[in-house]
Amino acid sequence: MSRDHPHPPRRTDESGPPEVSLVIPVHNESAGLDFLFGTLLPIMDAATAHFEIVVVNDGSGDDTLQRLLELQSSIAQLRVVDLSRNFGKEAALTAGLWHCRGACAITLDADLQDPPELIPQMLAKWREGFETVVAVHADRNTDTALRRGSARAFYFLLNAVSEMRFVPNAGDFRLLDRVVIEAFLALPERTRYNKGLFAWVGFRQHLIEHQRPERAAGESKFNYRRLLSLAIQAITSFSSFPLRLWTYVGMVIAAFSFFYGSFILLRTLILGTDVPGYASLIVAVMFFGGINLLSIGVLGEYVGRIFMETKQRPLYVVRRLHEPEDSVGVGRELR
Ligand code: UDP
Ligand code: MG
Repeated sequence: MSRDHPHPPRRTDESGPPEVSLVIPVHNESAGLDFLFGTLLPIMDAATAHFEIVVVNDGSGDDTLQRLLELQSSIAQLRVVDLSRNFGKEAALTAGLWHCRGACAITLDADLQDPPELIPQMLAKWREGFETVVAVHADRNTDTALRRGSARAFYFLLNAVSEMRFVPNAGDFRLLDRVVIEAFLALPERTRYNKGLFAWVGFRQHLIEHQRPERAAGESKFNYRRLLSLAIQAITSFSSFPLRLWTYVGMVIAAFSFFYGSFILLRTLILGTDVPGYASLIVAVMFFGGINLLSIGVLGEYVGRIFMETKQRPLYVVRRLHEPEDSVGVGRELR
């Protein structure tokens, strides 16, 4: 492992790389696994002659890992990357992409909200020469109105402040050619907003619209706190506009103060001193106090980012890579 690389060494495969890798991050998805593979396998068997499924167990607290290891005895293509704790979906996806060996990879959720029926279509586009194929939600009917509204506001803001174009409602259901995977993995930053990184690396991209179905089993792991944190991460990773904003606000306030100051000076010179003004004074003090705190907070967001980057920590830690061939003793003791 090179010192400045965020990933562990990769295993080489003697039997030749698969054509397609499915990369699936899972966190407490035990209830839906049978259904997931029951749906995926027939589709994959029909779609390609050689595929693998890389499931990343992102610190599940239930028996997800146990179930996966059991499933390995019947699914020869199943490889399980077991992370040492919950690192979050973005990191888990990166771990999966690092361990996958396919000529292309398709990343999808374990809850079948990314309909596998689209996979043949995605592969067809890839074989046509597109290096990235992204599934875009045609509508967000399965989301609440509040979540829909905040998603719209988020994409509007993100596109307004960053130089790149982000496709609204593109999920993490996408096909990536090997060149895209390598470009993505070569990016050194530690705070990662995957969608942004994929947009940044570029390549020929095709969009497929689809209806996003309800979760097949279990419940969503993304509450508003997590979504807000991801949104702040996205915006601060792809734009320095929030920093510059305070320069503009400062300029406007300085100009205003100058004119108001001149006005008060003139008035005092002409009409003499005028003591009352407590209300305007306290309002001004509070207003500028608030603005100061806000702008320091924004600064802190970026300083925090620098702090995270300089620590050079890996994105995730792998406890163990479970290859199908070494899963003979099903349900064995785990380290
Ligand atoms: N996930 C994960 N780590 C986490 C949270 C979620 O690997 O910390 C996985 C989860 O198991 C699922 C996918 O990410 O396969 C999407 O999660 P979820 O369905 O909860 O998100 P939503 O569809 O509500 O956006
Ligand atoms: Mg989901």
